[in-house]
Amino acid sequence: MEYAVKQFSSLQEAVEAVYGEPVQITRRDPLAGGDINRAYMLSLSDGHKLFVKENAAEKMSFFVREAEGLQAIRDSGAISVPEVYACGKDGSDSFLLMEYITPGKKIADFYEDFGRRLALMHCADCSAYTGDGKFGFISDNYIGAGYQVNTPEDSWIGFFRKRRLLPQIRRAEKCFNSGELKVLDRLLEKLDELLVEPYHPALLHGDLWSGNYLTGSDGRAWLIDPAVYVGHPEADIAMTELFGGFPRAFYKGYYEQQGKEPGYEDRRDLYNLYHLLNHLNLFGTTYLGAVLAVLRKYS
Ligand code: ADP
Repeated sequence: MEYAVKQFSSLQEAVEAVYGEPVQITRRDPLAGGDINRAYMLSLSDGHKLFVKENAAEKMSFFVREAEGLQAIRDSGAISVPEVYACGKDGSDSFLLMEYITPGKKIADFYEDFGRRLALMHCADCSAYTGDGKFGFISDNYIGAGYQVNTPEDSWIGFFRKRRLLPQIRRAEKCFNSGELKVLDRLLEKLDELLVEPYHPALLHGDLWSGNYLTGSDGRAWLIDPAVYVGHPEADIAMTELFGGFPRAFYKGYYEQQGKEPGYEDRRDLYNLYHLLNHLNLFGTTYLGAVLAVLRKYS
């Protein structure tokens, strides 16, 4: 399975290709909230609105991977994502052009509906994304600004050890003393006792915190900014609990659809160790205390 986003050599050219006729960008309104890229709502001379993210030209691969991830979620047919129109380079910038999600008012059962749709996404057939293994993705991608290797593995626990925890631990090595590094080594060794294989592999959003969904004009949740891979669905749910912002109704909707595996709460912080290590690597030692607290819990 390959997904190729159309690539252009200027934003103007890409915008015109979307509409198939000459149109001008009349306004660029900056949107706050992202931590990596510059984001704008573009207003066009024909009244349409588009969304564009920009970064330095050498960051183009971030956008290609983001487009791939959004397409995979879209293909699940379970939950809305903005349509990706194009990406490309424009002078010293790269850009990702997509549908602008017009903000709307949440429907009454917004969170239940969101939870239910996420569960449906987790149940969708995702075998096409993992080639020879069961867990991973067709390409590597990014978790925030951090590189994420998705080479497929047959077992979830093997994937989580080799492609998730281990690379982050290696990157963060200088943050730990020798005793802590030993604890980390032991933790990796006993992952088989601590984690379980899922009932079925699931397409995950991969970076599901409350800044990565929007309310569209249909009043429902739209997912943005994914770091997709095929894994254990619990890993997505664990991340929703890491920084909060998902009310009880979300979990009600989710678990009514998908069911809850026994012992999830005992595994939750271990899944989130991946994100805490990524934060430690990206944002520095303010996250060290949280990482060490998880280590104490599982050692
Ligand atoms: P980053 O890649 O830097 O994390 P985000 O994807 O978080 O950027 O987007 C930056 C801002 O743009 C956020 O406020 C987000 O809510 C908003 N946003 C993202 N995608 C869209 C979209 N398709 N339509 C409208 N607003 C969007």
